[in-house]
Amino acid sequence: MLELQGIAVSPGVAIGKALVFDREGYSLARCLIAREETEREWLRLVEAVEKANQKLEESREHTTATWGQHLGGIFSAQQQLLLDPHVRSETEHLIRDKQYSAEYAVSEVFAKYAAAFRRASSSFLADRASDVRDVERVLLEALSGKPAPTLRELPHEAIVVSHDLTPGETAAFDPSKVLGICTEAGGPGGHTAIVARGMEIPAVVGVGNFLHNIRSGDEVIVDGHLGRIIVSPDDATRERYLLRRKARESIATKLQELRDLPAITSDGVRIELMANVEFPHETEACLARGADGVGLYRTEFLYLGHDSEPTEEEHYQAYLQVVRDMKDRPVVIRTLDLGADKMGMVRPAEPENNPFLGLRSIRLSLRNPALFRVQVRAILRAACAGDCRIMFPMVTTLDELRSARFLLRSVSEDLWAEGNYTPCAVQVGMMVEVPAAVLMLDRFIDEIDFVSIGTNDLTQYTLAVDRSNDSVADLYQACDPAVLRLIQRTHQIVSEHGKSTSVCGEMSNNPAHALLLVGMGIRTLSLTPAAIPIIKKAIRSVTLGQCEAMAWRALRLSTAREVEAFLMNQLAGLVPEIVLQA
Ligand code: PEP
Ligand code: MG
Repeated sequence: MLELQGIAVSPGVAIGKALVFDREGYSLARCLIAREETEREWLRLVEAVEKANQKLEESREHTTATWGQHLGGIFSAQQQLLLDPHVRSETEHLIRDKQYSAEYAVSEVFAKYAAAFRRASSSFLADRASDVRDVERVLLEALSGKPAPTLRELPHEAIVVSHDLTPGETAAFDPSKVLGICTEAGGPGGHTAIVARGMEIPAVVGVGNFLHNIRSGDEVIVDGHLGRIIVSPDDATRERYLLRRKARESIATKLQELRDLPAITSDGVRIELMANVEFPHETEACLARGADGVGLYRTEFLYLGHDSEPTEEEHYQAYLQVVRDMKDRPVVIRTLDLGADKMGMVRPAEPENNPFLGLRSIRLSLRNPALFRVQVRAILRAACAGDCRIMFPMVTTLDELRSARFLLRSVSEDLWAEGNYTPCAVQVGMMVEVPAAVLMLDRFIDEIDFVSIGTNDLTQYTLAVDRSNDSVADLYQACDPAVLRLIQRTHQIVSEHGKSTSVCGEMSNNPAHALLLVGMGIRTLSLTPAAIPIIKKAIRSVTLGQCEAMAWRALRLSTAREVEAFLMNQLAGLVPEIVLQA
């Protein structure tokens, strides 16, 4: 039995067989072999290289005959890579000296070459990374004698174990097959974590290097509450986790009874609990959990995992479905927040050194007005079907907000001029995610109808901590006093102008943090649908005065650790029955 500690990012306990994937998303049967197996393993690889070479030769001949020499040449280049002496000697070293299985050695060497190509400044070389992946796939298939299962097509129910996962890969999972997720890399605020939570798949990220300690088929427990991974559990541990899972399920069933009751403090203050969604079908989970509306629709997921840009009609149908499903409840559609860790096919021309500080979000939309207009047209059309609002992400300067509003007005005029559109009042909001927006909010406020605080990015940009990097995960604290002061200032300015503030970052999923936000004056929280019942329970168990007292004390503490310890203590005193779930 092996116990590993990582970062808990999506609650729940999963127990099942591991399916181990390499860095490029192909499955690995095993990673390490016994010393006496190395010679046999090396010969297995030599044989597979021959087979793969034959396969590429057939593809080259066929493509040349059908499409001509210039396309057939692609396969000659892949053959050169396959037979490259450096690739051969590096793979041999990993198998003979480090006892890597042939598959693991191939995946490590090819991942290294693919990454080097991706980093190349010329786009021609960067495109070669996909050739490297193709050769790797052909070689892995030759090794296993069958097509290598990929992350997109899991052959059976499994716990997915991988070095890392992109948000797009996670979003493409079939939730009926993926019991749990566990990755070597990844931080607490990354979008992979957010997607896993949205899909209600227990997940632990940032475990550090451990793929060599696990094989596909090993039994694994993913404890998404405590961030623990247990490989090959003994009988007593498995039994303990089965009991724990049962206890949590029965608490969840009890909380579900609150579905049709409002989130209201025991002295009568109503808090709106809205849902964060990434996909239209999630409206089902929103309604099942009693959400008051959709407070954040992350529309960029329409792009992730698709090979071409969505058309206006595809945007429109997705938005219309959400607005219709939510009936008269408000739906806040956030315009594209692509870039950084969420890369679709709209990318900067050159790879960026600092993508989180680069061309992402509203910056990317404003730089691509044709793309932006398509989305805004679809939102305005869908807005005719209900209470649909538009929100711009990561606004940093007033110029950005004004440019976005200018485009919005001109799109509305175009639609009107085309004839079959009657303009309807659409509230316009902005996300507060960077400290500059907080500092300048008194200038922004007259030009918007509402504000939503994105604490995931606000924490990242205030504390200069990459939200998806496990090495600095301990520094990524939404309850850091610096972040709390920015939230407080935001709420103060917005309320002085008679407008509303919501908090839509992951902070809202945490009962102790949610009570703190209520105590600070926030009346709308937007959170992952699965967390709504527990947050509702917390709110219904306290008075506003208790939350305010909690906020008063928390805002006078000096470190994130002090705030966190104080809040957990308060929660245990005020709502002890949910501490197990929190
Ligand atoms: C945030 O930054 O808090 C937020 C809600 O947006 P996202 O997580 O999609 O960046
Ligand atoms: Mg954000």
